[in-house]
Amino acid sequence: MAQSTQPKWALVAHGGAGAIARGDLNPQQDAAYREAMAAAATAGAAVLRAGGSAMDAVEAAIQILEDDPLFNAGRGAAFTAEGRNELDASLMDGRTLEAGAVAGLTTTRHPISAARAVIEGSAHVLLGGEGADAFARSQGLEQVEPVFFFTEERWKSLERGLGKLGLPVPPKPVGAPEPEGRDALVHEEGKYGTVGVVARDSEGNVAAGTSTGGTTAKRWGRVGDSPLIGAGTYASNTACAVSCTGAGEYFIRLGVAHRICDLVEHARLPLQAAADRVVQEQLTALGGAGGVIAVAPDGAMAWSFNTSGMYRARIADGEPLVVGIYKDET
Ligand code: ASP
Repeated sequence: MAQSTQPKWALVAHGGAGAIARGDLNPQQDAAYREAMAAAATAGAAVLRAGGSAMDAVEAAIQILEDDPLFNAGRGAAFTAEGRNELDASLMDGRTLEAGAVAGLTTTRHPISAARAVIEGSAHVLLGGEGADAFARSQGLEQVEPVFFFTEERWKSLERGLGKLGLPVPPKPVGAPEPEGRDALVHEEGKYGTVGVVARDSEGNVAAGTSTGGTTAKRWGRVGDSPLIGAGTYASNTACAVSCTGAGEYFIRLGVAHRICDLVEHARLPLQAAADRVVQEQLTALGGAGGVIAVAPDGAMAWSFNTSGMYRARIADGEPLVVGIYKDET
């Protein structure tokens, strides 16, 4: 009798890497971030457990993180020097190598879904600025007032960031909401707080997605690695799926996500070794800070970061949910 193999799925999520050492977060913040990472990973796992695709799981989990003001993605995004929220995201399907990305969205509630719409509703890979929002609107994606993304804590970060740069603080956006209880739990982890999810579904397909508000006080239409396929996000069934967070300029220069996939596919490095080689050795040598999550078609999961912390969670078929924040956790 032919032996049936148990479907194996796996998912890893991050909520940004940065200056997040033990003692930086008070107990309420620590608990809130852990709960948020657990909620996103659990939602993605539910999709996979029900036989859903890696693409669906990644999108579902990222939507939750985008709506949570604790993270620098969607609501709670970092502000540009002009006091705007400009959102970037990307999504890649490891089965087909189809990829979609958006940069500089200001009115689309879920940038990750706009990235997916680029795959499914356009002949392109990367759309930017007003055109990207117009495209998302044309695809029926929910539109919001730009002030929807406003949170008081990120505004305070902007004020501090502009102060350091010697730049003037722009007027607060009209209609900026009063801080809610949850907003006050935001930890300023430095410049990074991007979210990302990678998944392997029960068919053996992998996918990766990343969503961010970018870096605080960014100027001149700056775009980081998160919407750049190969830099902040990459997925291939012949290698692995990777999502990055950190100082985007360094991730772009190294092509971090693609580089990890290359080491897995061509140098035959185990997933964790490939992630560590790029993050701990190459990224660190170049002076870049940040981290990555990864999953392979065989279900292997990995994370690696050279900052003091990274919000993260992983879960797999038959394995418990693991949530971590600080460097000294597994
Ligand atoms: N990588 C993102 C960027 O450079 C920032 C982050 O990870 O928080 O835009």
